Amino acid sequence: MPIRRLAETTINRIAAGEVIERPAAAVKELVENALDAGSTRIEVILAGGGIERIEIIDDGCGIPAEELPLAIERHATSKLQDEALVQISTLGFRGEALPSIGAAAKLTLISRPAGQDGAWRIDVAGGAITAARPAAGLKGTRAIVEDLFYATPARRKFLRSPRAEAEAAERTVWRLALCAPHVAFRLVSDERVLFDLPAQPEAARVAALFGREAAANMMPLEAQRDEVKLSGLIGPASLNRATTQLQSFVVNGRPVQDSLLKLALRLAYRDVIPAGRHAVAALRLELPDEALDVNVHPAKSELRFADQNGVRSLVIGAINRALAQPVSLGTAPSATLPSLALRPPPSAGPRYSLPPAPSRAARGFAEAELALAAPPAARPAFDIQAPAPAAPATGHPLGAPLAQILDTYVLAQAPDGALVIVDQHAAHERLTEERLRAQFQEGRIATQPLLVPVVVDLPAMEAARLLGETETLARLGLEIEPFGPGAILVRAVPAALKDPDAAGLLRDLAEEFAEAGAPLALEAKLDAALARLACHRSIRAGRRLQREEIDALLREMEATPRAATCSHGRPTFLKLTRADLEKLFGRSG
Ligand code: ADP
Ligand code: MG
Repeated sequence: MPIRRLAETTINRIAAGEVIERPAAAVKELVENALDAGSTRIEVILAGGGIERIEIIDDGCGIPAEELPLAIERHATSKLQDEALVQISTLGFRGEALPSIGAAAKLTLISRPAGQDGAWRIDVAGGAITAARPAAGLKGTRAIVEDLFYATPARRKFLRSPRAEAEAAERTVWRLALCAPHVAFRLVSDERVLFDLPAQPEAARVAALFGREAAANMMPLEAQRDEVKLSGLIGPASLNRATTQLQSFVVNGRPVQDSLLKLALRLAYRDVIPAGRHAVAALRLELPDEALDVNVHPAKSELRFADQNGVRSLVIGAINRALAQPVSLGTAPSATLPSLALRPPPSAGPRYSLPPAPSRAARGFAEAELALAAPPAARPAFDIQAPAPAAPATGHPLGAPLAQILDTYVLAQAPDGALVIVDQHAAHERLTEERLRAQFQEGRIATQPLLVPVVVDLPAMEAARLLGETETLARLGLEIEPFGPGAILVRAVPAALKDPDAAGLLRDLAEEFAEAGAPLALEAKLDAALARLACHRSIRAGRRLQREEIDALLREMEATPRAATCSHGRPTFLKLTRADLEKLFGRSG
């Protein structure tokens, strides 16, 4: 075949695959256009996860009638003043989004700049343009996208379910709303108002989008290194979550999902948050345009810092300093976020946190060795010198209890003389899960109505997501119902959970469901929920156990299949045989 130039429509369809790989990407481009247009108010309305319809209404500068055809032409942009691509202060600049969307879907733009008599409208469908014509419309721009990827069925096949796509698109608007607190934002998805926020100070925006409880505990942070400025809000270690969803990074006004920043955050919290849990943070970086390349990826969500080490250590250093502050928001340095400083200090002690124990046990012998060498301050629950109550019965492979140390690990002596170290939380969590699972399979999970129903505040999106799972949860004995925006009323809990921390439980469940993205098969949902429930009723690390309790724990572990690992796959116990001990002491050759 001879070489030939591709038709414009084909080029746009190819580009569409790159820039607009799913509805969330189209939403991002359109909202960014609205922000670039200097809007003070942006409304996003989604139907069917954005696959059916996306509508974005702004009150920005508008597009003059004569420029409407240009707006949907490839590489046509009003934004790129600096063609060297160094100083890019707008969110868009490639002039690719609208033509790409127009190639893959049905796109309508209705726009009216200030000073123009009326609004004008232009339509593109599968790349075919209808001439611009007058229409009704207010100042600003309305962009409507329908039937995304109807013109590119191959793409359409790769879309996930409407719920999963909605989740991603909603999350995108959530991030953009965090970027631009000075702009009023309203998000409606399948007729549910997920948020409706006025222009507000940054701390108030974070509070609204992270949920009241998170916001009340987050602390302001500010730091600068050379020309790089860092600001934002971070959660105390106790506010950790099951996923990274409550992490937002804004760089020069742009929402980013940057791996360097994510890693820096993880490192900063590494020693205070258990493995598998994630910090809560809303961070904003401002740096000179020259110190940043945003033109790395078509979706512009990744970037490259000129001074990577500098940025990394700025973030880690600032967080470490903030975490080391005494827990009083009143004294935390806060020049830019005064409203937060007025919040009451967090209640003493974490309201909800996972013990750091399981991760440590998983690190293996080296750590076990350390735990054994702990200073005498960590007094065993009962005297470690005391003789074992009886010779361990041979029928009990985990042996007889010796002691509990650090209020976290149980020591026992196995019949073969080996030292058994049990992570009490991990072990108990597994036992509980297995018990709940058995109850569920036998159809006898009992529900315990709460005398006083509990109201739990959640970020609106999480509340909506959980309410979508009302039936699944009911099957597990957890009864919830809507209670106003962002609030859920808990009426009953599984009877197996004594004194559950309802707020923590619901939050974790919401994240568990969200993390999975696509609506899980019922089976998988129940599975995930069971594991969560188990975790919530388990003995915490840091609780002193009676000898009887330890004995009961060991015996139940022996009787339970799959008791050797916790539900996160980490070991529940380690066994140090004579050979292991000899090796550790350098006795063996
Ligand atoms: P880019 O944002 O990279 O310039 P787009 O294809 O997204 O490219 O948009 C093309 C042009 O259309 C923009 O440069 C801008 O002039 C105009 N435009 C698009 N959306 C809007 C809007 N909501 N308000 C005002 N102008 C807009
Ligand atoms: Mg754009």
